[in-house]
This record gives sequence, C-alpha cells and structure tokens, in this order.
Amino acid sequence: MELKDLKRKNLEFQKKWLKDDPTFFERLNEGQHPEFLVVACSDSRVCPTTIMDVEPGHMFIHRNIANQVVHEDESFSATLYYALVHLKVKYILIKGHTGCGGVQAAWADNKEEGLQGWLKHVKESLPEDRESREWTSEKLCKYNVLYQVTKLKKHPVYQEYGQGVPIIGALYNLASGEMDVYDLDALIQSDAEREQVMDMLNQTEVER
Ligand SMILES: [Zn+2]
Repeated sequence: MELKDLKRKNLEFQKKWLKDDPTFFERLNEGQHPEFLVVACSDSRVCPTTIMDVEPGHMFIHRNIANQVVHEDESFSATLYYALVHLKVKYILIKGHTGCGGVQAAWADNKEEGLQGWLKHVKESLPEDRESREWTSEKLCKYNVLYQVTKLKKHPVYQEYGQGVPIIGALYNLASGEMDVYDLDALIQSDAEREQVMDMLNQTEVER
C-alpha cells in the first residue's frame, strides 16, 4: 500500500457510507455517543473497529503497545475520565491479542533503550515466575489482559467515576481472526490454571 492509496480509499469509504445513508456524516458531525471505551494494542493487525466490524461512532479507543493500563499515563487517565464522565460509556473492553510483540519483547527481557520507558510497564504486567514452562505466548497474552482488568479496577478515575461500568477482557486470535470475550472467571479455563493465575495476581501489587 502506498501513500496515494490512502486518499483513494478514503473516497471509497465516504462513497460507501453515503450510498447506504445520505445523512451518515451529518449525524456523526452532531456528536458522538459511543457505548464502548476500548483499550487495545497499537499493532497494525488488530484495529478494534476493523476486527469487530463496527461502524464509526461506537468505540472510543485508547491504543498503546500491549494494551496497557498505566496509572501515571495522563493520556490514558484523560481518556478514561472523558469516556466515563462525558461520554458515559456502558462498557470498557480491554482487548489483547495473541502474538503480541510488546508482550513477547517484555517476556524476553528486551533491553533496547528506546523501548524501556514503556516495556517496564509491560514487564510488570507479566508473571514473575519466569522459569515456568507453563507460560506459552498465548497464555501470557491472556494474563496480560487479565492483569490490565485488575489494574483498571484500581485506577482512581475508574474508582471515582466507573462504578457499575463493567470491564471486559478480550483476546483476539491473530491466526484465526476470532476474538474471545471473557469475564474474569471465563478467562481462566481450568481450576489449576485459575489457582496458579490468581496466586500470582494476589502476590503482585499493582503500582499506582
Ligand atoms: Zn500487541
């Protein structure tokens, strides 16, 4: 894909929506009323509206490498505040994905200087038990999502303004294109796995 393709594709997008609904852009221009705040990875293959086939206007989206909830990230705090207080979203979806490069880099203890400022947050979101063979790439990506759910529950903005707004975890499978949506219980599939993960989560203090 080249730069010149962007304009052409934009015109195709405009034409498609106007054909189905001549007032589509007029309505969007009046304001947004998204039902979801979505926290997703910056990965080019996992755009939330594309993979869920959602039209403009339904998802207020915060993206960063490895879909992190970082309490000291002012961009995230403002996004969360605006979504809860002004947009009054009904749900918060934290969407990770399999094969996440951010998770893999953190797990492999990447030392690249330009990435450390962010990878330190991802590293904190992964199990401390680094020797265990239990942690396949997919399990780590799931764990990362679960961890962000717990971290968001402790976020001061969520605690003040988010009561009653469910936080839902999801994992998008890059290899199949399918997204699994989890509540906390369903995220862990066996009792043994639940025990293991919950032990680790309990041992890990979320930094504020
Ligand atoms: Zn990723």
